[in-house]
Amino acid sequence: MNFVRDFRKDCLAVMEAVERGRKFAFARFGTGECAILKGKPVHARGSHWHGDPERNATYYAALQTAWKCERPEWYVGAGCPCCNPAEHHWYKKNLHIPREGVTFATLFMGSNWKLFHDWLMARRSSYVLVAPHHGDFECPANTFEPNWDWTQLRENLLQTLNGTPVMLACGPLGKILCHELLDAATGPLIDIGSALDLELWGKPTRLYLKKPKRKKHFRQAKAKAANDRIKRLRNRTCVWKLSKKAVHKS
Ligand SMILES: [Zn+2]
Repeated sequence: MNFVRDFRKDCLAVMEAVERGRKFAFARFGTGECAILKGKPVHARGSHWHGDPERNATYYAALQTAWKCERPEWYVGAGCPCCNPAEHHWYKKNLHIPREGVTFATLFMGSNWKLFHDWLMARRSSYVLVAPHHGDFECPANTFEPNWDWTQLRENLLQTLNGTPVMLACGPLGKILCHELLDAATGPLIDIGSALDLELWGKPTRLYLKKPKRKKHFRQAKAKAANDRIKRLRNRTCVWKLSKKAVHKS
């Protein structure tokens, strides 16, 4: 699989690679992960987790190790220039893999969400799901707050790896597990993020998962602005031109 940083093409490439059943891991590093990688405290408002570099030192270190992975089967999504230029700049400066392995952290969101979501739903029996609710394997909704030890979950997953794709919907732990399972895996490991949250939580956990109202005339400008923001997020198609020389290869 080669990423070309075309929002739709790269999403289809992940889906096709999963269908082919090849071994690879795809982990997406967004806003919260950027703070963790910089060693800063983080509070991800929409997604139920908080992180502190001292209390959660094990998580911080494991995410660093994942980010620095250089294996050929390791693919990452990173913050894009359109959604967060400051983060994007940091990610671009700190990439550890060639550009063929890099795409958008938002790959399963925005205008790709429905396609990816429907594909996941149609294939539900063909993969193992790790999530806080309704997963085949479950973890706490906020693994950081109890400073949850994921060793047992990792062991349980290792016992079941047989080429079946593993989909992870568990925040930063999903990226860590993608990395820690990669050695033993014989199939795909995908950090799906919030793509199935409507089903897993029974409600939208992110703005882009909310349904915009059709109402043309809002009484309050604020309500209209919020509705427009949801529409923009749902229709968002990220753009990223990444030249060869922009990629730092350690
Ligand atoms: Zn973007």
